[in-house]
Amino acid sequence: MSLYCDFARGHPLHGPYHDREYGRPITDETALFERLSLEIMQAGLSWELVLKKREGLRAAYAGFSPDRVASFSARDRARLMADPGVIRNRLKIEATIANAAAVVAMRQRDGGFAAWLAAQHPLRKPDWVRRLKTRFRFVGGEIAGEFLKSLGYLPGAHGADCPVHRSILRQTKPPWIDVGADWYSQQ
Ligand SMILES: [Zn+2]
Repeated sequence: MSLYCDFARGHPLHGPYHDREYGRPITDETALFERLSLEIMQAGLSWELVLKKREGLRAAYAGFSPDRVASFSARDRARLMADPGVIRNRLKIEATIANAAAVVAMRQRDGGFAAWLAAQHPLRKPDWVRRLKTRFRFVGGEIAGEFLKSLGYLPGAHGADCPVHRSILRQTKPPWIDVGADWYSQQ
């Protein structure tokens, strides 16, 4: 059992995220953009704070609609910097708005965010980070790694003996399964 699995169990915020979202593949564009944005918001802070602010973030970022966030104006930027319900960090706000535009651009260029991710797979983490950086801002190793683990593009979200790990393997097919967890730690 990983530390996060143990820690999350029964926790009011981490419990539902661990049980229903973490490590499960998603393809919905809005959900993918939200996940990427939340991981960026977390940088230097805690995931618990992000989960606590999640509804406030959704409200402030137009439900994480890439189209709407991509068109955020100077006025929206000022609104976000003044909103105690969000993470008030100018670099994160600018990155999120730029990333929304990157997601929108992927529709024409790559068939969408989900298709672009699927087309990169499989990659080991350093290659993923390089690839993500060609499209997105604020995607350093830690943020990229968590984003990809949360989607099953990298293994290790759950401990092998976590009941959720077993249910994910039964119900969905996380992409990392294609090559097996060991592949990711090879050079
Ligand atoms: Zn778990």
